[in-house]
Amino acid sequence: MLMKWGDLREEEFDAAIEKSDGLCIIPIGCYEMHGEHLPVRTDVFEAEAVAWAAAGIESAVVFPAFEFGDSNALVNRKGTIRLDPEVMMKVAECYCTEIARHGFDKILFVNHHGGNLPFLDFFLNSLDYKQRDFTALYTYPCPKFKDIYADIEENGLAAYPELLPEDVEIIRGFLEGKQEDGHGGFMETSLMLAIRPDLVRLDRMGAVDGKSNGVSYPLWDADLNSFYSLWSLNFPNSFAGEPIATNERIGKVILRLSAESVANAARVFKENNHLFRERIEKKRKYYL
Ligand SMILES: [Zn+2]
Repeated sequence: MLMKWGDLREEEFDAAIEKSDGLCIIPIGCYEMHGEHLPVRTDVFEAEAVAWAAAGIESAVVFPAFEFGDSNALVNRKGTIRLDPEVMMKVAECYCTEIARHGFDKILFVNHHGGNLPFLDFFLNSLDYKQRDFTALYTYPCPKFKDIYADIEENGLAAYPELLPEDVEIIRGFLEGKQEDGHGGFMETSLMLAIRPDLVRLDRMGAVDGKSNGVSYPLWDADLNSFYSLWSLNFPNSFAGEPIATNERIGKVILRLSAESVANAARVFKENNHLFRERIEKKRKYYL
């Protein structure tokens, strides 16, 4: 059952905590250019839609989105919003503290922006360091077109009622073309067509080159890394995709599979939270 934090009346909170088994989801994205065909809030729209759909499968309260994730690498693009990294850490901790103060003991960040991964890892580790009385984890659902296509080839279209036979041809063409599919690419464009088609300009998808220029390869080959900076060197137009005539039916499949993945993560989190609590209890003796 989906329960959006801001839609609840005060008297509904206790029941919401019980129904969700103490699990609150924070969708997290960022504001940054996604090619010329998608809005800058794309990652937040996606994280929200996936979180809301997931909570419909595995009951959870969904907090308002953490809008401004790590977009430092795209500072040269209009529409990017950056928070000072220390402020970002503080805001994230404040969200978690406020959620936990109400009685939730499990917080799940549903992420939809690759650039947030180093931040989330570091932030969640900082909570562990502080021995907080709640557990916070993240999940980053990324269904793969090659898996979807292999499943359809083997088992037919029955498990994908959203799709028409012509959609399978689109997916096959994409896979055979070995097309780039990252930031603003086939996956995200399809998903946005399912979520906010009014904001998608498919005719602008090829307006900038979204192919990798390979500049970062020697650095990666030498095992030098700073994920987001090297990525932005490799995709100087801040778009990692190629024009493709996708549609909302394909996006609905991605949305459903992402939601199922997050719902499964939420269920497993609920079943295993005791492991984290027991670990904190064991560790406490080293700190006292
Ligand atoms: Zn994105």
